[in-house]
Amino acid sequence: MQPDLIFSMGPNAFVLLPARLVQVMRRFTVGEEGRAEAGGILIGSQRGDHIEISNCTTPLRRDVRKPYLFDRKDRGHQLAAMSAWTRSLGKRTFVGEWHTHPEDDPVPSGIDRATWRDITMKNTAASVFIIFGRKTLWAGIGQAGSVTAMKVVS
Ligand SMILES: [Zn+2]
Repeated sequence: MQPDLIFSMGPNAFVLLPARLVQVMRRFTVGEEGRAEAGGILIGSQRGDHIEISNCTTPLRRDVRKPYLFDRKDRGHQLAAMSAWTRSLGKRTFVGEWHTHPEDDPVPSGIDRATWRDITMKNTAASVFIIFGRKTLWAGIGQAGSVTAMKVVS
């Protein structure tokens, strides 16, 4: 069992990603699933200066999955965020998104940067962006149009 991941987004501000979610998302980088990009949203809560990710969605029927493209078209992702919000009485909601890349050590593409920019312009809270490669992952935190890489602290 791998440990939970903790990313640093500032001197005393962290993002917590549970190991079980890492496992769920990483599964889409290997074998048959790894032939097309996959993705979904991250659901969680703001806890003071920290973001705790508690769930994620995975590819749904109307999403577009190509070897070098994932387009989150299915409304189910948004519905999952709304349902989490309702069930948690307003504590949990969309806190970011994830997708896979068919490369060992992923780096954000121009399309990724443009998509993330739009998301951070719409949301007032900071958003987490994660790309899973075949070997490593890339994680960033975005707000007000800009996204910066986060370091793993454990
Ligand atoms: Zn990408």
